[in-house]
Parts: sequence; structure tokens; C-alpha cells
Amino acid sequence: MSEQATKAAKGKIIINRDVCKGCTYCVAACPKNCIEMDRNINSAGYFPAIFAHADKCTGCAICATVCPDIAIQVWRD
Ligand code: SF4
Ligand code: SF4
Repeated sequence: MSEQATKAAKGKIIINRDVCKGCTYCVAACPKNCIEMDRNINSAGYFPAIFAHADKCTGCAICATVCPDIAIQVWRD
């Protein structure tokens, strides 16, 4: 009488593109390699981070914790 298999934690982030200063800390910190740097600049002239691999995000919030510009919001199922 087992319930369905334990579901892996699922998360979602939103990066505020125009607040991001392109430091890449979040890219280095994400354990699932969900974040990449964009090839197009934002309104401030920086190459911002983008949430490139949403399917792998666990919602751990490490990215938001390391972001010095508070540019990342995290949601977790
Ligand atoms: S919440 Fe965790 S898994 Fe998701 S993008 Fe941020 S660091 Fe990566
Ligand atoms: S840590 Fe913050 S400021 Fe740095 S690249 Fe990521 S979102 Fe941008």
C-alpha cells in the first residue's frame, strides 16, 4: 500500500534581469547548473543571469542567497 514515490523537490526562480549586475555568483553556486549568463545586455549594460534549465531546479535558494543584488526570487513546491 505504498504511496507514489517520493517526489523530488521542484523549484522555480525569477531573475530580475535589470537588477542583475552579471557577477556570475549564482551560476557558480547552483548545484544543478540551472543558471547561465545571457549573451544580451540588460538596461544597465550588464550581461545578466538567465534561468536556463528550469527542469532541474530544486528550489534550494542557494542562488538567491549568494546574489549580492537581491535579483533572484525563489518558489518551491
Ligand atoms: S533554487 Fe537552487 S537549484 Fe534552483 S536555480 Fe537556485 S541554486 Fe539552482
Ligand atoms: S548573483 Fe545576482 S547579480 Fe550576480 S549574476 Fe546572479 S542574479 Fe546577477
